[in-house]
Amino acid sequence: MGRRVRTVAVVGSSVAGTGAARALRRAGFDGRLVLVGDEAHAPYDRPPLSKGFLAGTLGEADLALLDPDDEADLALELHLGTRVDHLDPRAGRLGLADGRELAVDGVVVATGGRARRLPGTGDTADGDTVETRGVHVLRTLDDALALGAALRARPRVVVVGAGFLGAEVASTCRGLGCPVTLLDAAALPLAPVLGERVARCCAEQHADHGTDVRHGRSVAGLHTAPSGRGRRVTGVELDDATVVPADVVVVGVGITPNTEWLAGSGLRCRDGVRTDAGLMTDLPQVVAVGDVARHDVEGPAGTVGTSRHEHWTSAGEQADVAAANLLAGRTLVTFRPSGYFWSDQYGRMLQLAGRPGPGDRVEVVDGDLADRIFTARYLDGAGTTTAVLGLGSPRAFGRLRRAELGRVRQPA
Ligand SMILES: Cc1cc2nc3c(=O)[nH]c(=O)nc-3n(C[C@H](O)[C@H](O)[C@H](O)COP(=O)(O)OP(=O)(O)OC[C@H]3O[C@@H](n4cnc5c(N)ncnc54)[C@H](O)[C@@H]3O)c2cc1C
Repeated sequence: MGRRVRTVAVVGSSVAGTGAARALRRAGFDGRLVLVGDEAHAPYDRPPLSKGFLAGTLGEADLALLDPDDEADLALELHLGTRVDHLDPRAGRLGLADGRELAVDGVVVATGGRARRLPGTGDTADGDTVETRGVHVLRTLDDALALGAALRARPRVVVVGAGFLGAEVASTCRGLGCPVTLLDAAALPLAPVLGERVARCCAEQHADHGTDVRHGRSVAGLHTAPSGRGRRVTGVELDDATVVPADVVVVGVGITPNTEWLAGSGLRCRDGVRTDAGLMTDLPQVVAVGDVARHDVEGPAGTVGTSRHEHWTSAGEQADVAAANLLAGRTLVTFRPSGYFWSDQYGRMLQLAGRPGPGDRVEVVDGDLADRIFTARYLDGAGTTTAVLGLGSPRAFGRLRRAELGRVRQPA
């Protein structure tokens, strides 16, 4: 250990935060370990919120990120329902929103992100706090409970945003028997991540299951009607002036990293907390992990770009790197992401490892895109495998990944 760290506070009690706490203990940290999270729930996992939990096949107990013995085994001091208000690195203090202060000499920033909303439908950055009933986001357990309750009446659902989250919500709502319209401003959502061929296959999969797909259309506004003392959504008006009737609207248009509490700390924050390639911030006693971390990546010819991952696996992969560097007080190891993520839609798992480049060719290895069951590799101009993908074929994907991994270029 490069320097004596006696107290580490991990801020954010989700997958990156709990992962970092475990990683610190694995790395030999035997000092005081405090985990602070502003949600009142025991630490829970988010991926099931749009899948089994929303469908009603999983309960809250299935989401637990900590086992009953973990708190004692990890000698973890948990402060839940506690928001961190600010960090004063010079004084080595974290200020909590309830007025208390914590003396710390190491901090893990794991505050993730919050769901973006449509203007005029909830609290937005411009201070607009008008609530429209029937309009939902899905980021937290409370969001999922509220949406799940609204779906019980099998309402007409419009999902705004056909990224992975929107696609999963559409799929789950169809599974529950709701009529679903899936909107996205992009002509072919997911193409930047999966390439055109596979993205088209995913779009067709929605149509196969009766989801009304409206791509290349954005929201012009919401139609509402008076309801109690507020208003309730009745439809979504598109930019071509058509109105899609809706009882429930789910907005899945991305997240905003939670960095406001770091204002005045001296840390650089712009769409995430800036770190080096080893997840160390500009302060040697502060590291960042998970959805909030924007880390340096090497670009072509020695240039430096940045990247921020919003995938469950990356959060865990980053935890070990950040823990080692925090305890050393300098960057000993750099983050080498596997680029792995998965998504479940219409009973089929989509899995990807590596990072496909924009012009890569997709070569089907097994199965057929038309059947929506296949594995494929992505090849760059030089014929090198950059990534592997599977839809509805977890075993074949696992085999392909193992076989190709040595040749998969590790994404920057
Ligand atoms: C519905 C859903 C489905 C998903 N499905 C998949 C999937 O299938 N595959 C996949 O790879 N990824 C999936 N993801 C993404 C994955 O869950 C995220 O990448 C992961 O949750 C990021 O973890 P995190 O710990 O960095 O941040 P978060 O999970 O956002 O957690 C951050 C925590 O910090 C808390 N916090 C924020 N500010 C403060 C503060 N000032 N003080 C104290 N606490 C604070 C927040 O309230 C939150 O509890 C899904 C996400 C969602 C929402």
